[in-house]
Amino acid sequence: MFALIDGNNFYVSCERAFNPRLAQRGVVVLSNNDGCVISRSNEAKVHVKMGQPYYQLQEQLAAHSITALSANFSLYGDMSARMMRLASALGPSQEIYSIDECFIGGLEGIAQLTTRARAIRQRIERCLSIPCCIGIAPTKTLAKLCNHIAKEAERRQGGYSPAWAQVCNWQEISPSQQIALLQHTPVAAIWGIGRRMGPQLAKAGCTTAYDLAQLPSALARSMGGVVLERTARELQGISCLTLDNAPAAKQQIACTRSFGQAVHTLPPLLEAVSEFASRAAEKARVADVLAAQVHVFAYTSPFRQGLPWHGAMTVPLRQPSNDARSLVQAATHAARSFFQAGHPLSKAGVILLGLQPSHQPRTSDLFADADIPSTSTHLMQAVDAINARYGKQTIHLASCGLPGQDSTGWRMKQAMRSPLYTMRYEDLPVAQA
Ligand SMILES: [Mg+2]
Repeated sequence: MFALIDGNNFYVSCERAFNPRLAQRGVVVLSNNDGCVISRSNEAKVHVKMGQPYYQLQEQLAAHSITALSANFSLYGDMSARMMRLASALGPSQEIYSIDECFIGGLEGIAQLTTRARAIRQRIERCLSIPCCIGIAPTKTLAKLCNHIAKEAERRQGGYSPAWAQVCNWQEISPSQQIALLQHTPVAAIWGIGRRMGPQLAKAGCTTAYDLAQLPSALARSMGGVVLERTARELQGISCLTLDNAPAAKQQIACTRSFGQAVHTLPPLLEAVSEFASRAAEKARVADVLAAQVHVFAYTSPFRQGLPWHGAMTVPLRQPSNDARSLVQAATHAARSFFQAGHPLSKAGVILLGLQPSHQPRTSDLFADADIPSTSTHLMQAVDAINARYGKQTIHLASCGLPGQDSTGWRMKQAMRSPLYTMRYEDLPVAQA
C-alpha cells in the first residue's frame, strides 16, 4: 500500500503561511527573473493559466486584484524539508518525489490508515499552514489518482463525493464506484502518460483510465513498451512500481542562472561565475562528494536578434575537491579563457563533473602540500557552520562581490520576493501584540 502526500498550490501556500493577508485571495508565484506563472492559488486559477508570461498578465492581475510574487526557492525548500519530516510519520518508508510530493510505502496492515492520514494532514496544516491532500491505494499510479480525486473533491463542490475530500483511500471505494472513477478519468490525466502517449492512445480508442486498465498486456507493450504495460497493470491494482527511497547518486551538481540584465564585460561575469561555483561547492559538501572537473558556460539570449554566441570550458582539477576556493579558481580561469567582448550574455552556469565520494581513498598528489586537505575541510566546515547559523552568505569569497551592491545588475530580478522567514535571523516574522 502506498500513500501520496502532496502540498496544494505549494509555493503560494508557503507564502500564505507567513503572510495571512494573502489568504482567500488571488496569488501567483513567478519563475526566476519574474518570467512566468509557476504556482496559483485556487482563486487565481480561474483567471490565470499555468506558465503564462508575467509581462502579458499585468492588466489582468490588476483587474482581479491578484498579487504576484517572485519565487523564493530558499523558503520553499526549507518548508518542503519540514513538510517531508512530518509526512514521514505516516509509514515506514518514504520517497521524496518532488519539492511538494512524497510517497509513503509499506502501509499494509496499518490500522485505521485513513484516520491516521487525516491526522498527519492536520498536523502539517497546523505546524506549517500548508494544506495538503493524501491519496492511498495499492499501487503508486492509483495513489496518484486518489490524490487528484482528494484535491478536486475539496476544491470543486458537486464533482466527486465530499467523503473523498482531502484524503481518498482507494480501498474504501466500492468496486462499482472504482470503475466509474476510472471511466470518468481521461487517460492523459494518468501519471506516466505523457503528452505524446495520450493522443496516441486516444486514436486507438483508449480514452479513459478504464480503457487503459482493460488493455491486454501484449497490446499495451506494443504501443508504449514496458512503461505503458506497467501503468495499465497498476491501474488494475497490481503493484509494479516500488518505492524509490534511495535516490540515485548524483552524476553532476549544477548552479546556473539567467542574469537580471545582460552582462557585457568580464568583471560581472567573473563575479557571477564565482558565486555559482561557491554555491555548487556548498551543494557538493552537503552531498559529501568531491568534483574532479569544473565546467563553465555562458551564452547570449536565444530570443535576441543576430547570431547566438556560446562560450564554454571544462577545467580538470589537480585533486578532486569541494573547497570553494579551488572550484572558484578553476571556474574564473575558464570564464577568463572563453570570454569575448561584444556578446551580451543572458545566462551562465557552473557544473561540477566527475563526482566521487569524499571519503574514498585517493592516490596522494606528489605536488600537493600535505596539510592542505585537512585545512581545507576544516575551513569549509567553519564557513558552512557560520552560514547555517547566521544566514546564507554571511561569509563568502570576496570574488563573488557583495550582495546588494551589484552595480551591473547581473543578479536575478526578484522584485517581489518575500523575506527568508525561516532561514535568516533578520527575516524572522515578528508577531504583533
Ligand atoms: Mg502540489
